[in-house]
Amino acid sequence: MPEVVERLARSGVSVTVERGAGEAAHHPDDAYEGAGATLGDGFSGEVVAKVAPPSADEIGRLGRGSVLVGFLQPLTAHDTVRALAEAGVTSFAMEAIPRITRAQSMDALSSQATVGGYRAALIAAQQLPRFFPMLTTAAGTVRPAKVLVLGAGVAGLQAIATARRLGAVVQAFDVRSAVKEQIESLGARFLELDMGLEDAEAAGGYARPLTDEEQQRQRELLAEEIGKVDAVVSTAAVPGRPAPLLVTEQAVRNMKPGSVIVDLAAETGGNCELTEPGETVVREGVTIVGPLNLASTMPDHASSLYARNVQSLLELMVKEGELSLDFEDEILAGACITRDGEIVHEGARKAAGAEVS
Ligand code: NAD
Repeated sequence: MPEVVERLARSGVSVTVERGAGEAAHHPDDAYEGAGATLGDGFSGEVVAKVAPPSADEIGRLGRGSVLVGFLQPLTAHDTVRALAEAGVTSFAMEAIPRITRAQSMDALSSQATVGGYRAALIAAQQLPRFFPMLTTAAGTVRPAKVLVLGAGVAGLQAIATARRLGAVVQAFDVRSAVKEQIESLGARFLELDMGLEDAEAAGGYARPLTDEEQQRQRELLAEEIGKVDAVVSTAAVPGRPAPLLVTEQAVRNMKPGSVIVDLAAETGGNCELTEPGETVVREGVTIVGPLNLASTMPDHASSLYARNVQSLLELMVKEGELSLDFEDEILAGACITRDGEIVHEGARKAAGAEVS
């Protein structure tokens, strides 16, 4: 974003932007030049910031000892992580930044999930052949739509808030009991399932994977509840794993024809058994949407939030205009994936090793 270029320039950093990089977010090249950037080879910097994991060709363009910042999918993109280590790149994954208070301004997972949750609720409203709000008209009263949100993390809470603003009656479910209060504060109901589950919160505020029996029980209980709603927005995820299966084929069959499922977990396989990632399909009369990379459908705000996240991280790396990496800092240490030719992030190392064996 041009405004971030300007802020970086003020702190003594010179910025090179690839031609056309901001076009989709409605920032032409001359806006970057006006903010003090040079247009040129974006891979030539001491620090290279991008959005998605680098391709093999892009890794080849990074110099040994250069620093890379971006969404690197450290737990699943094993080949990329190995190639970055071999290329001697010091890489930092936005998704590995510890979710501590001091790092909140760098939390790109949250900023992009906010976009995704908002968009998912809008897609549900758009696809549903009914109103979301209650309406009293001369031709009779329209009942409000019933929406169920599965997974109430950052994306789920935003989907709840958006569906509520559109007037739907919203219920939500999560395996972490801490979210009950957050769901209720948004005017939605916490769906209690008699799963015999106390709480499934693990380290860092994330959910732990459920056991096979717990999952089975959850699916059965949910199938009944799903049959009572007009739309489901599913956002359940466990970091580094395929999305948990929550909506079975039977649950889809239980829904009324014309109902909608928006499966935000499509990117990691989907929460619904019938989701086809990247497609919108109609099964058993139910429209099932499996969107990929929803953040890119709202590029202006997705980019401005992401740019601020990256700027905050860069501010930790630069002292008086010079690159200075302090690996004693828990944020830099936690987010670092490769360094000095090694995979230094424990989760990424284990994941990469696990794939080999
Ligand atoms: P996520 O994208 O990994 O998961 C989305 C949601 O799915 C989570 O709420 C999770 O509990 C839920 N889920 C997992 N398995 C499920 C199942 N079987 N059934 C139903 N729900 C299931 O998570 P996220 O949104 O990135 O973050 C989760 C939490 O992390 C936040 O709500 C918060 O507590 C914490 N967090 C902390 C900070 C911070 O302190 N800076 C920032 C962001 C998030």
